[in-house]
Order: sequence, then structure tokens, then C-alpha cells
Amino acid sequence: MKPDLFEAPDYYNLDDLLTEEHKLVRSAARDWVKRDVSPIIEEAAQKAEFPKEIIKGLAEIGAFGPYIPEEYGGAGLDQISYGLIMQEIERGDSGVRSTASVQSSLVMYPIFKFGSEAQRKTYLPKLASGEFMGCFGLTEPDHGSNPGGMVTNFKDKGDHYLLNGAKMWISNAPFADIAVVWAKDESGRIHGLIVERGMEGFSTPTTHNKWSLRASATGELIFDNVKVPKENLLPNKSGLGAPLMCLDSARFGIAWGAIGAAMDCYDTALRYAKEREQFGKPIGSFQLQQKKLAEMITEITKAQLLAWRLGSLRNEGKATSAQISMAKRNNVEMALKIAREARQILGGMGITGEYSIMRHMMNLESVVTYEGTHDIHLLITGMDVTGLNAFK
Ligand SMILES: Cc1cc2nc3c(=O)[nH]c(=O)nc-3n(C[C@H](O)[C@H](O)[C@H](O)COP(=O)(O)OP(=O)(O)OC[C@H]3O[C@@H](n4cnc5c(N)ncnc54)[C@H](O)[C@@H]3O)c2cc1C
Repeated sequence: MKPDLFEAPDYYNLDDLLTEEHKLVRSAARDWVKRDVSPIIEEAAQKAEFPKEIIKGLAEIGAFGPYIPEEYGGAGLDQISYGLIMQEIERGDSGVRSTASVQSSLVMYPIFKFGSEAQRKTYLPKLASGEFMGCFGLTEPDHGSNPGGMVTNFKDKGDHYLLNGAKMWISNAPFADIAVVWAKDESGRIHGLIVERGMEGFSTPTTHNKWSLRASATGELIFDNVKVPKENLLPNKSGLGAPLMCLDSARFGIAWGAIGAAMDCYDTALRYAKEREQFGKPIGSFQLQQKKLAEMITEITKAQLLAWRLGSLRNEGKATSAQISMAKRNNVEMALKIAREARQILGGMGITGEYSIMRHMMNLESVVTYEGTHDIHLLITGMDVTGLNAFK
């Protein structure tokens, strides 16, 4: 792969809206991605392996629990810092960002928000340091967009719960030490349970043959009469709203992360268009290529404004789930379109692993589907503005 020469676009001087802390956090993440992710990520993706050697670095830049309070090992940062970290990591690779998103928003967040004090103290510091890795089990083979229909369930056996069922498409599953699993009790109400690797009847087979997010490990969670200690149930919230709150946090991170992937594609295409000559001139001097680049920077700038405003709203505790849906949907589609256009600017070179664009493009095909599909987020916006539910 070519050396990482990334320069971040900031067409509307959005840095003026950031604090010194935001910029410091971003520059630590950016430097780390250049040093420790860019040189190894293409090979990891080609081999379809999650590069475990980067876990320590992810922890050091605050990517595990950026907004979790410091007393639990988190970085104690605000939502914009969290977004900027996700942006920088996804600039390197969406699969690496997925690992960090899951650990922060789908594992640490529910334990912090819905867990007991004992659960917080047991798990959060280890998750923040990367000593423990976690995964989040909501999706099932027959229940993706409709997680409320889940069939994974647990029964009260007096001194423990007995968990049965299966989860599918679970990021980090093959190597996770713990899983936050969503399952129904005997009355059909959804609860979160912390399931630990090594519990009898719990297995995590790897999902093979992915053409997307190849540097992120994906797997299933199988529960065959797993005895879960009662103290592993998250006590402070139940119902579908609990996992949906986790998804809000993760989707917010994705809205920022997708900007990173788009910026990397744009920056690569811009540099290439200025250097590559055809018909005796740089291809960037042709109007058709300029149209592509001009539209890319316009869309990136709009996405940056959306993400920044959403971050401010989240800092004030005012962002709605529907606002988060809009940003996730818009920014991922924006990034996917930019990856496709950027790939064309590079001609044949665009399909090789010499450049990051094709990898970003393939990765974004998962990002547009997970954490609520493109269609589902549109329906959320539609329901929000009309007051009419088109889901069912
Ligand atoms: C790489 C990867 C990693 C993932 N990681 C995780 C994870 O860590 N944890 C986890 O729990 N899940 C994870 N997922 C699962 C992901 O969230 C689901 O794939 C997603 O929610 C969609 O579910 P589905 O694949 O079953 O598609 P389906 O729900 O079957 O949808 C198929 C199509 O039908 C459309 N559709 C569905 N319902 C409607 C409707 N009412 N109206 C109109 N159109 C509709 C959808 O938009 C989609 O286009 C991951 C997925 C992938 C690909």
C-alpha cells in the first residue's frame, strides 16, 4: 500500500468550531492511525483478519469509552471528541472503527447506563484498557430490522438464568471476552445479560467469506442452555428501548466515522487527479473530474456540519433518535457515493490494494446496512415528520 499522505479537508473552517481539547484528541487519533493502522490494514483486510495488535493503541487514544467517566477507566470526553475519534479511525478502516464502536457504545455504554455499580467496576476498566473485548448480540438469523421479534430467551431457574437462542452478524464475536446479549424473559420482556466466554453451552463461530469489513471479525453467538449468574443481568433498564439507546450512541459514531472514510477517498482522489496525466495534462484539469471532486467536497462539508451540530445537541442532551438516524443515513450514503466516484477517478489503479478506496467502498456496504439499514432510517425520518408508522 502507498504511504499515508492524508491531509484532512476543512473547506468551511470547521476547526474554528472545535475546542483545543477536540483538536488534541483528533490529532492523537490521526497520528496513531497514520503510524499503526495504515501500514498494516490492507494486509489484514486481504487476509480477513482483525489485527489484534492494534487493541492497545485503540485504548491509548481513548477509543474505548471516550465519553465514559474517568472513574470507570473511560476518557471522560464530550460527544464531539467521541465523534472525532470515530472519524479518524474510520479514515483508516471502517472495520477498526466498528471494533471501537461496539466496545464503546454497545458494550461499555449499556454496562455504564443500565448496569449495577458492581458490574461497572468489574467490567468497565478492563474494557477501557482493552484487557477485555466485548460484543453486542441483538440481531438474530430471523430478526434483523425487527429486533423486537427476537426469540432468544432466558428462564429463571432460582439461583441462575438459563439462556437459549442464537445471534448472528455479531462484530467482535470470535474473540470477545464478554457479550452483552439481548434476550426475552418468560413474560416476553427484553433484558440485557452479560455472557462470558467460557460459560458452558456458549460458542462463537466465525462468519467467513465476507467481501466487506474484512479486517473486523464477525461471528455468531450460540446459547445452548447457558447458565448465566443472576448478577449478570443488567438491572436498570429493560424493554427494546434499552438496546435502541445503545444503537443511538453507535449510530452517532457512525455518522462521524463515515466522514473519515469519505475524506480519505476524496483526499486520495484529489492527489491522484493532480498527479496523473492523460492527453498531456493532469486528469484533474478535465471538467468531468473536477465535477466529481467539487461535489465530493460539497457533500463532505454538509456531512461535517450535520455531525458537528448533532454532536452539540448530544452534548446538551437534546438530540433525538430521529435526528441521529438522519445523520447516520445521510453520511454513510454520502461516503459510499464518494468512494464509488473516487474509485473511478483512479481508473484501474482504483481497484487495487495500493490505495484504500476500494477497501473503504466494500466496507461501507456493511456500514450502510448495519445499525439500521438505509431504508429503515428513511422510515424513521418519515415517521418522525408525518407521525405515521410505515414499518408495519
Ligand atoms: C458486518 C456486519 C456486522 C454486524 N454487526 C452486528 C453486531 O455487532 N451486533 C448486532 O446485533 N448486529 C450486527 N449486524 C446486523 C445488522 O444490524 C443487520 O444486518 C441489520 O440490522 C439488517 O438486518 P438483516 O441483515 O436481517 O436484514 P433484513 O432486516 O432482513 O432486511 C433486508 C432488507 O429489507 C429491508 N426492510 C426490512 N424491513 C423493512 C420494512 N419494514 N420496510 C421496508 N424495508 C424493510 C431492509 O432495509 C433491507 O434492505 C451486523 C451486520 C453486518 C453485515
